[in-house]
Amino acid sequence: MKLLLDSTRCQGYGLCQEPAPDLVALDEWGYAQILAVVVPPGGEDAARACADSCPNSALRVEG
Ligand code: SF4
Repeated sequence: MKLLLDSTRCQGYGLCQEPAPDLVALDEWGYAQILAVVVPPGGEDAARACADSCPNSALRVEG
């Protein structure tokens, strides 16, 4: 599974980090940065929750 960010859609709400702090970091303005594009084993639920948490649909999981 991969966690993918469309940075053109990210508005810096910062909601995505809480469900997946090992997968997403926020920059100093609150915009998301993917820490692990390939989701490590056991991180699938967190990745899905992360993608679901974004009100702007900037994050999605694939695979
Ligand atoms: S919740 Fe969405 S819009 Fe907000 S920082 Fe995360 S990816 Fe960006």
